[in-house]
Amino acid sequence: MRDKEILVTRSSMPPYEEYIEAIRPLWDSHWITNMGRYHKELEKELKEYLKVPEVSLMVNGHMALELTIQAMGFPAGSEVITTPFTFISTTHAIVRNGLEPVFCDIKESDGTIDEEKIEALITEKTVAVVPVHVYGNICNVEAIQRIADKYNLKVIYDAAHAFGETYKGAGVSNFGDASVFSFHATKVFNTIEGGAVTFQNHVLYEKLFDLKNFGIRGEELACEVGANAKMNEFAAIMGLCNLKYIGEEIEKRRRRTEYYRELLADVSGVKLFQPDEDIEYNAAYLPIMIDSGDFGCTRDELFAYLRENKIKARKYFYPLISNQVCYRKNGKGRAAALETAEKMSERILTLPLYADLDFDIMDEIVDLIKQKRK
Ligand SMILES: *Cc1c(COP(=O)(O)O)cnc(C)c1O
Repeated sequence: MRDKEILVTRSSMPPYEEYIEAIRPLWDSHWITNMGRYHKELEKELKEYLKVPEVSLMVNGHMALELTIQAMGFPAGSEVITTPFTFISTTHAIVRNGLEPVFCDIKESDGTIDEEKIEALITEKTVAVVPVHVYGNICNVEAIQRIADKYNLKVIYDAAHAFGETYKGAGVSNFGDASVFSFHATKVFNTIEGGAVTFQNHVLYEKLFDLKNFGIRGEELACEVGANAKMNEFAAIMGLCNLKYIGEEIEKRRRRTEYYRELLADVSGVKLFQPDEDIEYNAAYLPIMIDSGDFGCTRDELFAYLRENKIKARKYFYPLISNQVCYRKNGKGRAAALETAEKMSERILTLPLYADLDFDIMDEIVDLIKQKRK
């Protein structure tokens, strides 16, 4: 048997010499953080790549989301409608702002928030919707915007999975009041750790600039109760290097996704999300859904079998955030019926996928899946 464990993802890195050469100037300037030259350069390049007027770089995706919500200035205790089928950061960012998350069910077709169930959750305390483009599946941005306009709500997209995608030709960063990206090591595009907020309104740029740097505006002036969420220069340079290869990286991921799809096409009991022609995907993840009736064993049994064989697939996203201890115990997160979300979280399994994943390994993974199928 193969000695090496296969993890669900593997960080993309530029050629070693290229990064080393790129960081050399830092030893001349000794300017290694605090919105330096490379912070500015990366913001500029991302504006071009993401086709969006404003980009604010952050230390990570979580702080990007937390500070974007803070920047909106909602009254404490306000309600924010969101999805329970996401990484826990999404809900934490709401709650750490003193706001109340209200969980909305998701759609079976793509795992994103069910726009038809949002309105029923709106109360006089609702101020915003925080939907997630989960696995890079783009939410129904038109319907969500209609609801937001009707009830005067802000829309902040957690776009951590959707870097570089387009919807009907438009860059995904252009929807809602803001979109938040994660540049964590495990994401399609990384700056080691990092994140960004994209939006149209320059006033928000100034606000986020204050919030990510203690609210400091001058040697003797602090105008906001800000945090520290600046991206440092080593991270920004990693981003500049990785951005050169992003097209290639996504193309390699797409080829692997296609291959998985072919291999899995005739395995009954295993379902994949159907691609939407309006979306140009970044092939960030490969989630499959196990229908234990057709498949003959449960998702958990398949998960364990893959582990025994050193394939570390992940249960993204299980458990639902609404079922997490930290939200159950304090009663946070008024939850409507979350039937589809419950069902999907019981069935979902995310298979290893990254730009340099060997095709042989994909053969092996799918063989293991077929062996387990009764
Ligand atoms: C990764 C991720 C985050 C958090 O980003 P970090 O850069 O790890 O802080 C937030 N939301 C979702 C959906 C994510 O996948």
